[in-house]
Amino acid sequence: VLNGRGLVKNFSSTTALAGVDFSVNRGETVAIMGPSGSGKSTLLHCLAGIMRPDSGEVSLMGQRIDSLSESQRSRLRRTRFGFLFQFGQLLPELSAEENVALPMLLDGTDKSGALQAARAWFGSLGLTGLEKRRPGELSGGQAQRVALARALVTGPIVLFADEPTGALDQASGAETMQTLIKATKGQGSSLILVTHDADIAAYCDRVVEVRDGKLTSLTAASAPATAQPGAW
Ligand code: ATP
Ligand code: MG
Repeated sequence: VLNGRGLVKNFSSTTALAGVDFSVNRGETVAIMGPSGSGKSTLLHCLAGIMRPDSGEVSLMGQRIDSLSESQRSRLRRTRFGFLFQFGQLLPELSAEENVALPMLLDGTDKSGALQAARAWFGSLGLTGLEKRRPGELSGGQAQRVALARALVTGPIVLFADEPTGALDQASGAETMQTLIKATKGQGSSLILVTHDADIAAYCDRVVEVRDGKLTSLTAASAPATAQPGAW
């Protein structure tokens, strides 16, 4: 569903990506591993349209997205993609449910409809009763699950997650990963997850490794999911 081909990205003297091919199928979960500074985040940013590669192509459902303008890519990120980062993603002055409702408000849903859709996520993510809390009143794992709800509430085609469990202890990291995989699969979204932790990567269908800006496959590709034509 998302395809990167021949991706190259240089930062002055540093080659962050040295020609990477990477694809994810619809509903597939893929982990990107590799040492610090190897180019994992740069690859994720190029695939997600946050950053433009110096050369190479990125296509979403067969349509080039790397050549779009910044405002078109920004809209695409908001409507087709979801994002989950290590920390600091929730707006501290909004309640948990307002944080989850925000992407729908930005997309033009009225406030009561957006809050209703947001609340539906709290039960399924084990967050019942925490709807009115501010992010500062949540544990790290709870805050990550609220951020997950916010990333998935618009039904993204691809969820991008960069070290989403990096700031959590092992137990809440594992719990967050189980919830993340279940919710992503339940939504029919694909997942591209960056992690340095092999136990976390093992939750994904497939694991690839980036080293010095080059990609190698660590596990055999899973059977390609059948593309659902015309879903967007
Ligand atoms: P980590 O595991 O530490 O997050 P990473 O694999 O995500 O590392 P990247 O952030 O993709 O690594 O960085 C790849 C290389 O590109 C590194 O050498 C980094 O210093 C360099 N780099 C990344 N972003 C920039 C930037 N905005 N300006 C200059 N150099 C950059
Ligand atoms: Mg990184």
